[in-house]
Amino acid sequence: MKILVAVKRVVDYNVKVRVKADNSGVDLANVKMSMNPFCEIAVEEAVRLKEKGVATEIVAVSVGPTAAQEQLRTALALGADRAVLVESADELNSLAIAKLLKAVVDKEQPQLVILGKQAIDSDNNQTGQMLAALSGYAQGTFASAVNVEGDRVKVTREIDGGLQTVDLKLPAIVTTDLRLNEPRYASLPNIMKAKKKPLETLKPEELGVSTASTVTTLKVEAPAARSAGIKVKSVDELIDKLKNEAKVI
Ligand code: AMP
Repeated sequence: MKILVAVKRVVDYNVKVRVKADNSGVDLANVKMSMNPFCEIAVEEAVRLKEKGVATEIVAVSVGPTAAQEQLRTALALGADRAVLVESADELNSLAIAKLLKAVVDKEQPQLVILGKQAIDSDNNQTGQMLAALSGYAQGTFASAVNVEGDRVKVTREIDGGLQTVDLKLPAIVTTDLRLNEPRYASLPNIMKAKKKPLETLKPEELGVSTASTVTTLKVEAPAARSAGIKVKSVDELIDKLKNEAKVI
């Protein structure tokens, strides 16, 4: 079984994000970039399925600038067999990315596509769902367990107040939640080996996909700075302030 894993290059989760002075977006100059954490979980799950003998090949795919090769090399070091970069310097919206991933799905014909549930930069949580709709495949989102059985996959989903297990016919789309697994670190020998694994670069035009945007970002703003708190000396003072100053009780 072939698994396609979608990995996104995002601002590292440890970085304190700065908004550009003209509010047009986030300042990416000299900022550490990494693989989206939910995509790391997606790669890990694919590698575990290969280790169990369920998967035979893992293809990592990313849509993004040339530099996204770094995240693909990380996926290769973690256990993917080859990688595909759909190269575009443009800021693409989710639908354009889903269309490009659909074109790669058509080309590669994977049985399972694993994506993160959400990219931590734009928090869209929609690419997997859009890809499922475009490809007509079943979808299991927010997965906390994935079990392939023959031509079907059981996906346990984290939903409000509990877990739901769905049974999908392959080929299918799965998006990963936080508790699906704990991703491994790439070992130095595997990082070296990854440099020799195949990485193909494609352009959106070669895939016949128009990436014209249907969404325009109007403004990006940092949250309002929080004013400093105060310390009160007693519960009575606290109640007095809540009642008479904050007027919340
Ligand atoms: P989003 O819908 O943007 O929150 O992203 C959800 C998931 O879709 C990510 O965790 C990735 O697996 C995938 N994805 C989003 N954007 C890209 C991209 N540019 N390249 C590859 N995969 C992506």
